[in-house]
Parts: sequence; structure tokens; C-alpha cells
Amino acid sequence: MSAQLIDGISIRTKILEQIARDLARLKRGQGGVPGLTVIRVGDDPASIAYIRQKKLAAENLGFDYREHLFAASARPSELIERIRQLNRDCTVHGILLQLPLPAHLNADELAAEIDPDKDVDGLHPVNAGKLFQGRHGLRPCTPSGVMRLLEEIRFQPAGKKAVIVGRSNIVGKPMAMLLLAADATATICHRRSDVPDAVRQADLVVAAVGTPRSIKGAWIKPGAVVIDVGINRIDGKLVGDVEFEEASQRASFITPVPGGVGAMTVAMLMHNTFLAWAGRPPSSAEAGILFWSETGPWPMRAACVQHPI
Ligand code: NAP
Repeated sequence: MSAQLIDGISIRTKILEQIARDLARLKRGQGGVPGLTVIRVGDDPASIAYIRQKKLAAENLGFDYREHLFAASARPSELIERIRQLNRDCTVHGILLQLPLPAHLNADELAAEIDPDKDVDGLHPVNAGKLFQGRHGLRPCTPSGVMRLLEEIRFQPAGKKAVIVGRSNIVGKPMAMLLLAADATATICHRRSDVPDAVRQADLVVAAVGTPRSIKGAWIKPGAVVIDVGINRIDGKLVGDVEFEEASQRASFITPVPGGVGAMTVAMLMHNTFLAWAGRPPSSAEAGILFWSETGPWPMRAACVQHPI
């Protein structure tokens, strides 16, 4: 078998075009435009490259995009103060704290300072808890991007065995929760798991390990769908966590690296910013972008919520 490639770039384009259409439709009644603010601490080259893509996408959509830059030596109190200011700023609908942070800063503590309604990375404990409980909230961009890719290839998670390798708060755990909510039997693997055994049984493999080519092609069950979240740099080239060529011989669908999941993360960030601005997921009457499997009422919140410090 030779797997079909899942083209994240064309799916990203589709999503961004849909957001642009929805924005044009909603803008009339809503007033203003979605505001996205990115906070960067230090000069990590990968972060600078990722932020450039976010800026480009946001500005192309006509969002009010801003960046707040801090020295790598920034104190936690400086960042908390800035986040609280942004929480109070009615023109800011989405706040993203670019990760990774310098070692002296605690990403979880800082993410918890962001107003959950502006938490477009979906990392605030309130949003993580809502995902855990199956309630509406802002979802982490990468796993929701993976769900979108699966919809695109018409993969039905219900009743399928999904194996997620990696248990980070930003990818592995929310990925498992989204698949569980879609009625898959979700298994999370980590360093102490028998990964080959789990992967051999999986109808869907999501690799979020951070080690190049560590998921071996020979482990893939024939016909399985393989989603490679990994982004690793080797000799200036990007490679995933999956042995791509070997896995392609067995899988039915596979994502390339680059051009697969990575392309989706920026699109889903724009989507989350749009939702944070709109105050609710758009109804299908308003917007065709409603691809969430988790539809239902999400009450419109006030256009601007003032949080006391
Ligand atoms: P992370 O926080 O470092 O987590 C890695 C996870 O993989 C951990 O849970 C770890 O297990 C597990 N792991 C590591 N080695 C393993 C092994 N040999 N066997 C089984 N499990 C193992 O990484 P992350 O932030 O989730 O990112 C994972 C990868 O995705 C990275 O390559 C990252 O660059 C990429 N990424 C891509 C995007 C995108 O937009 N495409 C977004 C985010 C991340 P333990 O918990 O036991 O240590």
C-alpha cells in the first residue's frame, strides 16, 4: 500500500478563506476586528519563525495583530502585569504566550494568568478542564488542527483504536480528549509505554514525541491513518517523529513534515481568535466553518469582560 498524503497546506488555505468569509459576514454587526496579541520572551529562532507565520496569517485576515517582546531575563511579575493589562484591553480578543519560555519562567503559571476567554492556545486550566468535561471552550490549536485533518479525509474516529504517542498538555493529552469525545478508544503512550505494541493495534496513530523517526514504519498496522505532529530539525531540514517512507508503505493516509500538521496550527490559532472575538462558535447559518463535532449552545458573552486585578 502506498499512503495518500494529507495536504495540510491546502486545508489550511481552505480554513483561512472560510474565516475571511465569516469575518466579512459577522463584522457588520459585531464592530471592530479580531485582535490577536502574541507575547514573545527572548530570541529563540524557532519561536521567531513561528511568530512570523502567525503575524502573516493574522494580518492577511485583517486582524488587529500586535506583538509584545520581552528580554530573555524578564521577571515573571513583568509578564503577569502585561498579561493582566491585555486581559483588560477590550481590543485584544486572543492572547498567545509563545512557547518555549526561558527556563526560569513557568509556562503553566503564566498561561493561567490569561483570561480563559482570550486563551487562544487553549492552555488555561479552565479550558483544559472544559475539554476534559466535554464542554465548550477554546481548544489547543495543534490537536484541533489534527481533528480538522481527520474530518477532511472523512476518518470516523467512533469505535476506532487511536494511539497518541506523547502526553504533553499542548498536544498529547488534549488530542486524546478530542478523540475520546469523538468516540474513539484513545490510548496515550509515553516513555514507559510499550509503544510498538500499542501502535501495531492502532487504526489511527498520532505521533507527538519530539524524537525524529522514532515511530517505526514496520509498527504501522496496514491501512492505519498516521498523523505526524513532530517537528525536528536535522541538518537544517525538518523531519517528523515517524519513519515517513516506511510508514507510507503501510498506512492509508499520512501527513508529511513539513506541510502536514504544522500548517494547521496557525490556521487553528486564527480560528480560535475568530471564535474569541465572536464570543461563541458561529452557528452553521452564519458560518460554514462550523466543523466542530461538539456542537451545542455556547452562550454569547459580553463583547468585553472586565476582570478586576
Ligand atoms: P513534549 O512536551 O516534549 O512531550 C513529548 C512527549 O513524548 C512526552 O510525553 C514524552 O513522554 C513522550 N516521549 C518522548 N520520548 C518517547 C519515547 N521514546 N517513547 C514514548 N514516548 C516518548 O513535546 P510536545 O510539545 O508535545 O511536542 C511533540 C512534538 O510535536 C515536537 O516535535 C514538537 O516540535 C512538535 N509540535 C508540533 C506542533 C505543530 O504545530 N506541528 C505543535 C506542537 C508541537 P514522557 O511524558 O514520559 O516524558
